[in-house]
Amino acid sequence: MRGMAIHIPTPLIASDAFSTPNQRVWLKLEALQPSGSFKLRGVGHACEWHAKQGARRLLSSSGGNAGLAVAYAGRQLGLPVLVVVPESTPEWPRTLLRRYGAEVVVQGKSWMEANEHLMSLRTPSDAFIHPFDDPLLWEGHASMIHEAARQGPRPDAVVLSVGGGGLMCGVLQGMAAVGWAGVPLVAAETEGAASLHAAVNAGHLVTLDAINSVATSLGARRVSEEAFAWTKRHPVTTTTVTDREALAACFELEREHRWVVEPACGAAIAAMRQRSSAALQNAADVLVIVCGGVSTTYADLVRLDAQLASGVEG
Ligand SMILES: *Cc1c(COP(=O)(O)O)cnc(C)c1O
Repeated sequence: MRGMAIHIPTPLIASDAFSTPNQRVWLKLEALQPSGSFKLRGVGHACEWHAKQGARRLLSSSGGNAGLAVAYAGRQLGLPVLVVVPESTPEWPRTLLRRYGAEVVVQGKSWMEANEHLMSLRTPSDAFIHPFDDPLLWEGHASMIHEAARQGPRPDAVVLSVGGGGLMCGVLQGMAAVGWAGVPLVAAETEGAASLHAAVNAGHLVTLDAINSVATSLGARRVSEEAFAWTKRHPVTTTTVTDREALAACFELEREHRWVVEPACGAAIAAMRQRSSAALQNAADVLVIVCGGVSTTYADLVRLDAQLASGVEG
């Protein structure tokens, strides 16, 4: 039916704004995917696979970028999409989901309740698309590294954001495939959503009691087994930034490059700007995954920034 992937190739650009005399910073612009984030790579790949297996409908319980990617992929594949989201999901992502033609059901106070409701509606011909824990997703995400390896130099460090770790698993898989197995990875989280950082410090998987961050797309209380396993077979440094630092990085990216991204993406930009880890201090070429995200508008960023500036924490 279609010979092309659902995601699009994205530009890799050297950032004059973020580079220094000793370090060139390369931005992989996943924010330019049609659904607004890197998620379309993995989700598109998974949806295509399920369509080939005969799935008749695609299901998601994400009111964020994963759900949007499923909705976009379903439209491209000609398959109906059902997304169940909790009441807390803002109006803006609901509007975007419906714009792609997805059926949006609002049910439950938490993601857990929404997910349970979705599972009760599931039929045998439905394919459920997980937001981060599925080898099909990782395979799709890995394509961004195959692309980057053709577009630019071998980096001395790679920086990305971590929520549940799907992006990280895919990027590390891609790095292994293109011969970048020795290139350090800097994994950034906000302090209130640092489930990978906690796991690495503890030496085992950790489930956070709660998520307390404006970077909602990083809000997985526990990372996948595979994400944690990767930290033992690749040089990975975890690092955390505050919500205010993630937001400041969003504004810096907007001012310098004119792109609006979520605080989830700002976390990786902030980590790169701080150059706090040794892996970044000595790197001549740094590759940053600009993962994107559409859940926060520019007005949202301004409002969150004002809230944090006047508030008690951050
Ligand atoms: C999903 C998402 C992340 C985190 O990705 P994981 O695969 O869950 O680690 C980061 N940034 C944005 C914008 C996202 O949509």
